[in-house]
Amino acid sequence: MTGKSKLSGVLCCPRCHGLLSEGHDSFSCQACGLTFGRNKEGYLEIALGGLEKMGQTTTGELARLQASSGAERMDDEYIIPYLRREPFARMLDVGCGIGRTVPKLLGLGYEAYGVDLPGPSGFWSRQQRGKNSFICCDACALPFPDGYFDVLTSLGVIEHIGTIVGDCTLAPGYRQAHRRYARDLLRVTRPGGRILIARPNKNFPLDPQHAVSDQASRGGAMMRMREQIFSKTGINIHCPFGAYHLLSYREIEKLFQEAGAASVRPLSIKGYFALSMFDSGLLRPLALPARLYIEHLPRRLWRSFLNPYVMLEVKK
Ligand SMILES: [Zn+2]
Repeated sequence: MTGKSKLSGVLCCPRCHGLLSEGHDSFSCQACGLTFGRNKEGYLEIALGGLEKMGQTTTGELARLQASSGAERMDDEYIIPYLRREPFARMLDVGCGIGRTVPKLLGLGYEAYGVDLPGPSGFWSRQQRGKNSFICCDACALPFPDGYFDVLTSLGVIEHIGTIVGDCTLAPGYRQAHRRYARDLLRVTRPGGRILIARPNKNFPLDPQHAVSDQASRGGAMMRMREQIFSKTGINIHCPFGAYHLLSYREIEKLFQEAGAASVRPLSIKGYFALSMFDSGLLRPLALPARLYIEHLPRRLWRSFLNPYVMLEVKK
């Protein structure tokens, strides 16, 4: 590589937050000397090691879903209009998966980055995603300076923070991991900046996005029944309370308030939900009622167990 990339002067050390200086295809911390290189696909891995142990949530099946037309629509009808609701220049997608949104924002002239575990970097490479726009790191130790971004999105991510490799089972210490995640997202957000968080609501007992891979009801008849229902309908019926990898609106609100957020408020999910599980099979007749339910759920119930999806905006 000749000259400096656009990441020069932007990235910082996940250990000490010192500025990283760019060398020949690597970055080194000016303060503590740690050096970070690129993986075999050519994407920077800026982490203190152990990313591979965090497992992989963007599987081939998920990548296919994230690249589907429903997901494209989600960008155009929800995410980009949300971002443009307030002026912004710099955006970060934390847990970007296949990284659909970032290239669109770059095309619109914004400064945008996507970060995820190394899993999707093969996909990034095949889609020719920019080597200086996508970075592998830990979502709880972001390689960016304090207050760098105007807006962050982290969609369908928090339920995988602090879980065991490749599934939805909570690991010991998951609460600390949640706290580190909330603190670091707020750290890289500028004062007055925004964070958009989305994920299925724990308090709503139907989850269309995750297979029955938690151990909330370990083995036995209940687990077998849940697995059968999931294989026929694509919907995971789960217990709406207790320790589970999904979180409720109140739990996420509390997490970010304790991490120092100025405010947290629920947003409508109208236009976000692709409802692709209703496209075929047994659930097809329910597509219209499901859409009407989501679009007409009264604002006062957005925080409640009646909302299938937690969509919230955190302000710093
Ligand atoms: Zn350092």
